[in-house]
Amino acid sequence: MKIHEYQGKKIFSDYDMPVQDGYTFDNIDKAEEVINKVMVDFKTSDVVVKAQIHAGGRGKGGGVKYSPNFDSALKNSKDILGMNLITHQTGENGQKVKKVFITEAFNIKKEFYAAITLDRSIGMDVFMVSSEGGVEIEKVAQENPEKIEKVWIDPLLGMKNFQARKLAFSIGLTGESFKSAMIIFLKMYKCYQQTDATIVEVNPLIITDENKVIILEN
Ligand code: ADP
Ligand code: MG
Repeated sequence: MKIHEYQGKKIFSDYDMPVQDGYTFDNIDKAEEVINKVMVDFKTSDVVVKAQIHAGGRGKGGGVKYSPNFDSALKNSKDILGMNLITHQTGENGQKVKKVFITEAFNIKKEFYAAITLDRSIGMDVFMVSSEGGVEIEKVAQENPEKIEKVWIDPLLGMKNFQARKLAFSIGLTGESFKSAMIIFLKMYKCYQQTDATIVEVNPLIITDENKVIILEN
């Protein structure tokens, strides 16, 4: 099953993980109302306008726009809804944007990558994290494989605290953000197991200037 970002967000919040939150619209007549609602509900004047398509690389393709105020959010919404978005994952024909997600903007200190999938060769789950988040992880895997930390988890035993600790340590976190990341990793694994997902991927996981750890994209 392919799901959009805003749908993945719902699953993650059900597992009590901190995700970026917001509202969607699929008709430009609704844009003003939705932007206002995000600004009021999240007590913010800057938001991010995000195309909802079934492909990554939206930022580079022009489908993710930081908007410092209402007028800019409305303009970016008009530009993005209905656009044909071409990314490295859509193929050359691109995908038409039929839905837009408006979310609060965060002050990002650093972006990380985190993912869980089955390592078929040994029948164990593999949990991968990298301090090189936000960018294309395939590239990191090829050019700097040492920048990806992996722990293998026996699905029958489940994920242990020391494994979550090892992952959080490997991306250089300390103090409160170290603890938050550990808890997020344990919950990500629980979500992966209970939903029977083939992959749970977060890119990026961020740490904000206020040292909050948040899932930005899944
Ligand atoms: P994609 O991977 O498809 O390009 P992302 O959701 O990862 O889409 O967004 C691309 C980039 O835009 C992120 O890596 C991050 O730097 C930035 N970004 C996305 N959402 C926000 C947000 N809510 N606040 C601040 N920056 C954001
Ligand atoms: Mg991303």
